[in-house]
Amino acid sequence: MRLIEKPEEMRAWSTAERLENRRIALVPTMGFLHEGHLSLVREARRKGGRTVVSIFANPKQFGPTEDFSSYPRDFDRDWGLLQKENIDVLYHPSESDVYPSGYQTYVTVEELTRPLCGTYRPGHFRGVATVVVKLFNVVQPHVAVFGLKDYQQVQVIRRMVADLNLDIDIVACPTVREEDGLAMSSRNAYLSAEERQAALCLRRALLTAQELVRRGENSAERIREAVVREISREPLARLEYAEICDPDDLSPAPKVDGAALVGLCVWVGKTRLIDNILLV
Ligand code: AMP
Repeated sequence: MRLIEKPEEMRAWSTAERLENRRIALVPTMGFLHEGHLSLVREARRKGGRTVVSIFANPKQFGPTEDFSSYPRDFDRDWGLLQKENIDVLYHPSESDVYPSGYQTYVTVEELTRPLCGTYRPGHFRGVATVVVKLFNVVQPHVAVFGLKDYQQVQVIRRMVADLNLDIDIVACPTVREEDGLAMSSRNAYLSAEERQAALCLRRALLTAQELVRRGENSAERIREAVVREISREPLARLEYAEICDPDDLSPAPKVDGAALVGLCVWVGKTRLIDNILLV
């Protein structure tokens, strides 16, 4: 596994691989890797060709009061985990190489970034879209792999790729969970033992929604009420949003008759957790 830190070196490596007709798969991450990230790496490896994993905690996707400075980091541990996965390159650029002084160009995806997390994290998806397109330009992948844990992010990136005519296949992988159902997340490291238990209310609420639909309920309002009730039973949890929406354009769905997405965001103590379920 080769460590590349400089964008010019990354680009030169990818250009040489492309000249040899090798396909490149990219997995963008912010580090502090867990099995969710590693499932994406394995999917990228299955594509054949070369695998690049990027680690870059992107300051532009954090709001001024958010957790950028405390976001968990452990480069040595990440390095060890990736070495076992047999990837080709770990791309780890510095903040000043990604955003040199004077930087002022951003990518904005419009409607898709308004609901769900977009409402509560203004500028977040602008930061995500910007860093992802910059990674795409430097790494020049044929395929990029993302996780459905961040469902809205996947939709935003798919839209951006289509709108900007980028020739990159976007692959979305299912959410990897702990045995008790909690979606894996680097931010789970913030939870105390008591909060870790409380965090199970997200999965419980989403499964309640699924069960209601299985039993024939199709009113989004009633399904949403059940999700909200489940979260309100947990004293350490505070709901940020629970939305039932169209899985493609993320617009509110009044009825669940075709596929629908339940997007959920809950604060447990000082930790913001998101999860979702696709009802089909
Ligand atoms: P992050 O490091 O949080 O920016 O995540 C990097 C990538 O890993 C994103 O595409 C996430 O959607 C994905 N990811 C994060 N957690 C999970 C999970 N539990 N299961 C599957 N993919 C995940």
